[in-house]
Amino acid sequence: MVSKDTYQAPTKTPNRWAVLNSPDYDQDFIGTLLIDLTKMYEWSSNHAVNTWTSHTPSQQAKEYFPKWIKDIEPNNSGTTLLDHNQREFLKAYDLDFIQRGWFKFWCPTCLTWHTEIFETTKDKEHIGKTSKWTNEWFCPKNHLLVSKKQSIRIIAR
Ligand SMILES: [Zn+2]
Repeated sequence: MVSKDTYQAPTKTPNRWAVLNSPDYDQDFIGTLLIDLTKMYEWSSNHAVNTWTSHTPSQQAKEYFPKWIKDIEPNNSGTTLLDHNQREFLKAYDLDFIQRGWFKFWCPTCLTWHTEIFETTKDKEHIGKTSKWTNEWFCPKNHLLVSKKQSIRIIAR
């Protein structure tokens, strides 16, 4: 019997590219971000050891991930969907993966994949103890791919 608190690891070896985020998952996204799983073995092995979460299925997903991506054929160019627990631990690192060059971004205006994008910050404001800003990512032809509203509340004692 499998309880709902147990991670059900995928059984099939994935394709090279995985959908990290898209408008289907997150309304901040206009483009679709794929990450290159063939580059992620070392990162994901270290990540499983160096971060620990008490939420068991997500920790299990993290620990299983390097095993899952280890045997991808080098000439594979297909796309894979991540499961919920995999996306949960990976999606916060989207900009890291972009900065490392382990990605391609679909621009729905250009109708093409880009391997380079630009990031800007706008609408910075401070209201009381809260800082707010908007983080925007663009394709090389200046089409908006992502618009994330961010905020941090500073708690002073
Ligand atoms: Zn574009």
